[in-house]
Amino acid sequence: MIKTLGYAAKSATAALGEFAFERREPGALDVQIEILFCGVCHTDLHQVRNDWKGSNYPIVPGHEIVGRVVKTGGGVKKVKIGDAAAVGCMVDSCRACRNCKDGMEQYCEKTSIFTYNSPDKHSGGLTYGGYSERIVVDEAFVLKVPEKLDLAATAPLLCAGITTYSPLRHWKVGEGQRVGVVGLGGLGHMGVKFAAAFGAEVVVFTTSPGKKADALRLGAHEAVVSKNADEMKAQAGRFDFILDTVAANHDINAYLALLKRDGTLTLVGAPPEPISVTGFQLIGKRGSFSGSLIGGIQETQEMLDFCGARGIVSDIETIRMQEINAAFERLLKSDVKYRFVIDMKTLKK
Ligand SMILES: [Zn+2]
Ligand SMILES: [Zn+2]
Repeated sequence: MIKTLGYAAKSATAALGEFAFERREPGALDVQIEILFCGVCHTDLHQVRNDWKGSNYPIVPGHEIVGRVVKTGGGVKKVKIGDAAAVGCMVDSCRACRNCKDGMEQYCEKTSIFTYNSPDKHSGGLTYGGYSERIVVDEAFVLKVPEKLDLAATAPLLCAGITTYSPLRHWKVGEGQRVGVVGLGGLGHMGVKFAAAFGAEVVVFTTSPGKKADALRLGAHEAVVSKNADEMKAQAGRFDFILDTVAANHDINAYLALLKRDGTLTLVGAPPEPISVTGFQLIGKRGSFSGSLIGGIQETQEMLDFCGARGIVSDIETIRMQEINAAFERLLKSDVKYRFVIDMKTLKK
């Protein structure tokens, strides 16, 4: 076993602090990655605070992991020692069901094994995530990172990136389309970058007038303040696709009204309360209302390769491991542009 230091929450009300645990020695198909950077996803905070119930403690959060391969099992073919490598939201799945066979392990019919707070068949305990020195993962769930990308700014691609890339690809967003991105946070800012890179005309919807200029800088063609009724009215019936990244309760009908005939609105954030949809908003235009969860391993690799070719990374603020509790408080206030990334070499100081 490999002694490993991480940061964990020991209960829903405890601050994160140092936690020593063990990783398994790499098996034949395992890759050992020394973690350089780990993004801070809002899910980390939800899990730590048990917002969705079902959290098990201690929790070592972190599923936007980038590092270097330091050891591989004898059967590993995907990466070699010294390679930049990444791990996202999943570390395993059943690999046998229809969805796994289709390369969509995130929809595994048995159970996707998430990077943290999932049962770990190797240890018999829980999986522990990227707020730690290293991780040992089966190569099937390891991603290759294009070397020319900034490694810190690449980390958020593993969740925020794929969460927005996958639905934009699935609904074939591209040239000649008008695409809305609701919310300009960690997810939204990546949605803007991808939709613009795919050639769509991108409109950002934000509650903060102060974010308008930034939306344009990130690649949007227009920014609308969603609290302004006149601005919203001017957008009615004009969208092929809307990516809704807002995890707080909000009025979906205001956005369904913006869809064209056959338009689709897709949720990637999960508001806590059930959503009320006015049927006429969908019937009147053959509209669709849908959802999407991260992306499969194959598509995540495709996204990283696309980012490598196009020089796309996340806008980040790098923090020290010891600053994580303050960063969580700022995350609650959406006070980050646009993703915190922990510099993991600070862990030992
Ligand atoms: Zn995430
Ligand atoms: Zn499966």
